[in-house]
Amino acid sequence: MAPATVIYNANSHHTNGTNGAHSVRKPHSDGFGTRAIHVGSDPNPATGAVIPSISLSTTYKQDAIGVHKGFEYSRSGNPNRDAFEATLASIEVGGAYGIAFASGSATTATILQSLGPSAHIVSVNDVYGGTFRYMSKVASINQGLETTFLDLENADDDTILAAIRPNTKLIWIESPTNPTLRLIDIPRIASLAHSHPSAPLVLVDNTFLSPFYSSPLLQGADLVMHSLTKYVNGHSDVVMGALILPPHHTELNENLRYLQNAIGAVPSAYDCWLAQRGAKTLHLRMKAHGANALAVAKVLQKSPLVEEVIYPGLSTHPRNELAYRSLSPHALKWIKQSNGLEEAGFPYGGMISFRIRGGLAEAEKFLTSTRLFTLAESLGGVESLAEHPAKMTHGSIPEAERALLGIGDNLVRLSVGVEDVDDLVADVEQALEAAAALSD
Ligand SMILES: *Cc1c(COP(=O)(O)O)cnc(C)c1O
Repeated sequence: MAPATVIYNANSHHTNGTNGAHSVRKPHSDGFGTRAIHVGSDPNPATGAVIPSISLSTTYKQDAIGVHKGFEYSRSGNPNRDAFEATLASIEVGGAYGIAFASGSATTATILQSLGPSAHIVSVNDVYGGTFRYMSKVASINQGLETTFLDLENADDDTILAAIRPNTKLIWIESPTNPTLRLIDIPRIASLAHSHPSAPLVLVDNTFLSPFYSSPLLQGADLVMHSLTKYVNGHSDVVMGALILPPHHTELNENLRYLQNAIGAVPSAYDCWLAQRGAKTLHLRMKAHGANALAVAKVLQKSPLVEEVIYPGLSTHPRNELAYRSLSPHALKWIKQSNGLEEAGFPYGGMISFRIRGGLAEAEKFLTSTRLFTLAESLGGVESLAEHPAKMTHGSIPEAERALLGIGDNLVRLSVGVEDVDDLVADVEQALEAAAALSD
């Protein structure tokens, strides 16, 4: 449940709370974009500056011992981090606490460390590669963590319940998964988890859809994590991560902050400032990413040079109905009001995967023939990127396992940017032609 009002300023986690002194209370009914722009971004009361200053000081003056304005040392708290955390808690609907980390991976490491020794978790089987590595190669050795990797898209209720052990502390979900964009039914997994006596927490890595398209906290998740490196910052110039927790997880929030401070997994003030600037246009960018991706997906779908297009927004996608049900309230409102429901489908983020007709040679020819789509890893920036999962992002997965996950040599992943849609469509078409010319 969202609180009735939000404070339009940093969510003070400091004991004296004075850094919220110039907060203005405004009704919470403001829309997503309004909150993204205003929450955590009050004009500076001393200078009138509309945009928060970058506060680089590592230490803070005390008026008497222990009497300060909410900040002591910048690892434990910094005005830019506080301000950005308030933005994050506001745009991830259902959130009350935001914790910004040095990277998505530092976020993952901190949450897994918080589980303590000899815990067990259940994770979606095609989890992000770095998450898989931390679970199976780092936490397994350092803290005896055991992970059951499950196909959470297709496993039935009994299988999921049977995987939960007395020491199962967490269920880790990513939806859609990477790179084959399989969709997990978050409310179903959350209700199974919460009905089990072990009551594991449910975490959703919401990086791919961003807080614009999906609100997992409204679907029963206990925690949402993001690699802010991707859509939230959105300009491919910051590495950062975040956790967002609902109001009833006060104690968990405090534990995680304690651990974060102890580990030092904190972002810089400058990165917080940049990522907050990025987040102010998240709604505009995500609408453009979604509209462009839908247009590109439709073109790919029509092309005889393409074997299969995977975009859950397409009405022909096998989980299109689940994709629709999983939309955040604000994305649903936007789709209903401004797009209507096209017969072909609806915007659902900016990621597309497709199988080009042919094999590795054709995929590589496509990837080196695009003019605007840059061949590169990562995703979520304003510029379009394309990559080859089997040889790049997912190259460390053994071939047999890759085959099971559907990551073949002809699979191409696109991060569709916000350039003019006609230019992107033309670029994809000419690169497909170039790939097809190989076998002429
Ligand atoms: C990139 C990514 C991460 C890791 O985040 P970093 O900021 O690169 O450390 C985690 N999960 C997903 C889904 C990602 O795409």
